[in-house]
Amino acid sequence: MRVLVTGGAGFLGSHLCDAMLAEEHSIVCADNLLTGRMENLAHLGRESRFEFLQQDVCEAFDPGKIDYLFHFASPASPVDYLKHGIETLRVGSAGTINCLEIAKKYNAKFLLASTSECYGDPLEHPQKESYWGHVNSIGPRSVYDEAKRFAEAATMAYHRYHAVDTRIVRIFNTYGPRLQIDDGRVISNFMRQALRGEDLTVYGDGMQTRSFCCVSDEIAGILALSKSEEHLPVNIGNPTEFTMLKCAEVVLEVTGSASKIRFELLPQDDPKQRRPDITKARTLLGWEPKIDLRTGLQLSLNYFREAVLANSSAACR
Ligand code: NAD
Ligand code: UDP
Repeated sequence: MRVLVTGGAGFLGSHLCDAMLAEEHSIVCADNLLTGRMENLAHLGRESRFEFLQQDVCEAFDPGKIDYLFHFASPASPVDYLKHGIETLRVGSAGTINCLEIAKKYNAKFLLASTSECYGDPLEHPQKESYWGHVNSIGPRSVYDEAKRFAEAATMAYHRYHAVDTRIVRIFNTYGPRLQIDDGRVISNFMRQALRGEDLTVYGDGMQTRSFCCVSDEIAGILALSKSEEHLPVNIGNPTEFTMLKCAEVVLEVTGSASKIRFELLPQDDPKQRRPDITKARTLLGWEPKIDLRTGLQLSLNYFREAVLANSSAACR
């Protein structure tokens, strides 16, 4: 297949490019480098089946005939989408419509990278795909949450009105090599702080929960979904739930750091709990994650060490 990956210079998009290349496909990656980095693609420099387009997907563009479109372009961490609020709304709305039009034009399959944020601060726990969510449409996080909810609505509408062959994955917190060290997400912050011997910043009382999925598991789940016939959303994430205090403890243990914990203010509308119900992925795709948080962080340790070093030497220059 010839596959278009939007957001392919980002954390997940670059891993997806690798996985699709390993399956012998040709890739066109469209990215405007708003939050992504060419370093994530540096290893593909000599790969003849890989093409990079520096492109804002909110603007009209034509990648040529494609067979599959994976729409991953969007700021994803709270720090990034709060900094780029309007861009986030645009890429979820105009950017998604643009990409759906491309899929329609070439009769290509389409997969949307959606998010657990569609559930907002959930009142149902764990979250099943049938739950409609509890989202503050005017709060600071709404630039991301509502953009993704619009993107899901647009995807379903192109499926219903134009018979575009679509998929929607609701991704839960994912970590691993190439996670930007300074994107403010909890794993990148804790790993950076632990490796530098700085205090780990726990927001609020640290009793809020998240469920962390290793990137290799996440990509395997997304690929399984892409090959299925399911058009309705599917949760892909790791169902083991951690409080942020417990997460800090695991990071300290894996890094062997003597850092202390410092409590800071909880951001507005920070969801209190998140855990995917993955029954649908298990039964429909035969997928479930294999790597627990401790193992996944150990596997990512070298990357985080190098990223912290590179980041410190860049700061010294
Ligand atoms: P990332 O910031 O590393 O990657 C996003 C990429 O999109 C970047 O390379 C960025 O430059 C690009 N981009 C942003 N706006 C663009 C535009 N208008 N045109 C072209 N490119 C643009 O983030 P990520 O963690 O890799 O997330 C990828 C996707 O997965 C996002 O859609 C995100 O919402 C979704 N997601 C990620 C997670 C997670 O835990 N990583 C969780 C839920 C959903
Ligand atoms: N968090 C934290 N310390 C940090 C960064 C984040 O305690 O340095 C908390 C944050 O308040 C949230 C959780 O960790 O409850 C996950 O935050 P993240 O930004 O990784 O992603 P989210 O799931 O909120 O989109």
